[in-house]
Amino acid sequence: MVKQVIVQNEEGICVERELGVHRGTKHGPLVIGIGGIHGNEPAGVVALQNVLRQLRQSQLPFQGKLVALAGNLRALRAGSRYLHHDLNRLWLPERVQLLKAQSRNFASTGEEQEQYELLAAIENTLIGHVGPAIFLDLHTTSSDGAPFALISDTLTNRRLALQLGVPLILGLEENVEGTILNYINDLGYEAIGFEAGQHQAPQSVKNHEAAIWLTLVASGCLTAHDIPAAQYQEQLRAAAQGLPSVLEVRYRHAIQDTDQFVMRPGFSNFSSVERGQPLALDQQGAICAQERSLLFMPLYQKQGEDGFFLVREVKPFWLSVSAWLRHWQTDRILHWLPGVRRLFGNRNALVIDRHIARWLVLPICHLLGFRKHTQTDGMLIVSRRRQSRSN
Ligand SMILES: [Zn+2]
Repeated sequence: MVKQVIVQNEEGICVERELGVHRGTKHGPLVIGIGGIHGNEPAGVVALQNVLRQLRQSQLPFQGKLVALAGNLRALRAGSRYLHHDLNRLWLPERVQLLKAQSRNFASTGEEQEQYELLAAIENTLIGHVGPAIFLDLHTTSSDGAPFALISDTLTNRRLALQLGVPLILGLEENVEGTILNYINDLGYEAIGFEAGQHQAPQSVKNHEAAIWLTLVASGCLTAHDIPAAQYQEQLRAAAQGLPSVLEVRYRHAIQDTDQFVMRPGFSNFSSVERGQPLALDQQGAICAQERSLLFMPLYQKQGEDGFFLVREVKPFWLSVSAWLRHWQTDRILHWLPGVRRLFGNRNALVIDRHIARWLVLPICHLLGFRKHTQTDGMLIVSRRRQSRSN
């Protein structure tokens, strides 16, 4: 159980959009840290402020720039996940285009205003920047449990995320629409989502700080000798409690308000569950695990669209196979497999006829990053995020 809390009252925290900027003496990479895109997750904001303060006070040789932004200011003030809409589900490309074409006054709800302002802050930061830019999106969870990282499955994102030493979850970003991480990835930048632990746990702030420092090293703003990098890695590794280094989403339990979904008590992130074990209740009755797996992000708060996920380990062997397949660009010939064709020539989407395609086809598609599933006219469509040249 969490004994201390980050925010002592129900009021939440009051911050500016730009939490701060740290500029190095030399030109270099740009790291953009975003905290509090969910207003009941103040730990990321506090951690960014702490790191900025330490950078200001130290004389560390810093290359490039760290820009720290706060996400949903109104919800942070209210101490709630969001006011009207989840700000981390609004970043669909067509919606962002519409937002850009409109004036600020058009945005009617609190979150539309927030998105307008946050988008402007991100674009202002990117304007004129030449070279790599890395996004770190900082979150916490309603349940207790180990920290973890989320990425769209590209090799560059994997490299960045694995250096944190926490479990890396594949297949979540591809199956949740409209996240800011997806939007950033589609712009062609590297992006990691980092979940530090429980919302109000002081340890979550420490884990976020470790992730920020290690990302500054991985991006080239600092060197590992400048900071106690090994200590930060050890801290996160210890917090990860010996969990597998890479896991993939096997099942998502999407919910609506009318479902009256209630998670059974006592689960935490990465609790082992057996096939048939009751996990939650809704209007239809008990919801049970479909297979032996690890329970992931069980929902213990009122707001949210995901009841829980089930995840399983991806063995290191398959990760190597995946990297090798990508190196040789075998994705270009995936549509040669029986029962597989490209969706209107789109190299990032495949149509699979499950009557023809054999059982290995889907795992191969996953290895190559095609992790998003949709069904149309009895056909399975698998797609991946837009790929950069270094995938
Ligand atoms: Zn969050």
